[in-house]
Amino acid sequence: MAHNLSYWEKQSFFTADVVIIGSGIVGLNAAITLKQKSSKLSVVVLERGFLPSGASTKNAGFACFGSISELIEQEQVCGTDGLHNLIGKRWNGLKKLRNLLGDKTIGFENYGGFELFKPQEHNLANVCVSKLSHYNKLIEDIVQETNVYTEANQSIDSFGFRGIDILLNNKLESQINTGMMMKALIEKAQSVGVTIYNNCQVNEIIEENNRVFVLTNQGKFYAKKVLITTNAFVNELLPNTAVLPGRGQVVVTSPIKNLKIKGTFHYDKGYYYFRNIDDRILLGGGRNLDFKTEETTEFGETDLVQKSLHQLLKEVILPNTNFTIEHKWSGIMAFGKQLTPIIEEAKPNIFCAVRCNGMGIAIGSQTGEEAGDMVFERL
Ligand SMILES: Cc1cc2nc3c(=O)[nH]c(=O)nc-3n(C[C@H](O)[C@H](O)[C@H](O)COP(=O)(O)OP(=O)(O)OC[C@H]3O[C@@H](n4cnc5c(N)ncnc54)[C@H](O)[C@@H]3O)c2cc1C
Repeated sequence: MAHNLSYWEKQSFFTADVVIIGSGIVGLNAAITLKQKSSKLSVVVLERGFLPSGASTKNAGFACFGSISELIEQEQVCGTDGLHNLIGKRWNGLKKLRNLLGDKTIGFENYGGFELFKPQEHNLANVCVSKLSHYNKLIEDIVQETNVYTEANQSIDSFGFRGIDILLNNKLESQINTGMMMKALIEKAQSVGVTIYNNCQVNEIIEENNRVFVLTNQGKFYAKKVLITTNAFVNELLPNTAVLPGRGQVVVTSPIKNLKIKGTFHYDKGYYYFRNIDDRILLGGGRNLDFKTEETTEFGETDLVQKSLHQLLKEVILPNTNFTIEHKWSGIMAFGKQLTPIIEEAKPNIFCAVRCNGMGIAIGSQTGEEAGDMVFERL
């Protein structure tokens, strides 16, 4: 007997004004936005994992809005105005997240962000240095500060790095505690009346006569509108969406006595990223070693990437320090040629807000809010 649901259960638990699929940063922010617009709306979030199981609880916790080499690359893709708009969205997203939950609650720390260049990257480093004043001017009206990006070569030795030639600083880049943030976001959503069901995998969405049926492993939900926020997994429900998955592998070291490294660091054009967390180093990246294998929605680790992470720690980040790897995991990001997320009505009454391009801490709240607004206007 499939599901054995009572009349009462179907009526009270399986019917909602809006069903949101995915309880990551975007889905939860969209849900909160909808409830803030109208507390009478019933908003249900369906999450297939026991915890949110994509990127939002698996990331590195960089509260970043762009390092110089990335900005240069992006400006070529979307032009100066497009880049200005994108940085504005990232900055506003961060502000929203901080205002919603509070800096203390999310472990927000402004230790600054750094971009590291190896001697072999001298040309790229010089181009980046030559662009500092351009990007400082570009973001001035967004962040309301001057000289955000500066050269910081004097700090290379104090961090204890080996084989680093040039260091750039972004004084406004910060870090959060990802676990604290997501726990608080879930609690915030629940406190405004959002219902979250876990272990509920959505298999199919059917639109019929202005109603949407959401078929799950727990039974069939009915909604006026559905919002898909499954990020890298979106093609399972909306095939042909312009999103490619990218797996990110992450490691955390054993505690290190007198750790000198504090801040968020981008290495090899951002393909590697590391930071302090407690008295340890968290390091992730290496997708660029084998793009094809890492273009997957499967969680897991590979020898190739794990070895490169270990080598980077040993040779560059912690060259004179004994450490072991105590934690490792992977998470799945969503990428596309355009860095702006997709926020649209994909089919009648079925919306989607996906593709935060590995920057969802910054842009996720903004994306969720825009999606929530869009769904609300069409209700
Ligand atoms: C290793 C790693 C490091 C990162 N580091 C940073 C960083 O330092 N700074 C930064 O800004 N960003 C970072 N990111 C990116 C950031 O985490 C993401 O951009 C952001 O979390 C995306 O949020 P989301 O809500 O769109 O998606 P997700 O968090 O992926 O949420 C999607 C949810 O949908 C659920 N789901 C999927 N399919 C279904 C289904 N059929 N039914 C029900 N539920 C489903 C999933 O379980 C998941 O919980 C990193 C990501 C990774 C993986």
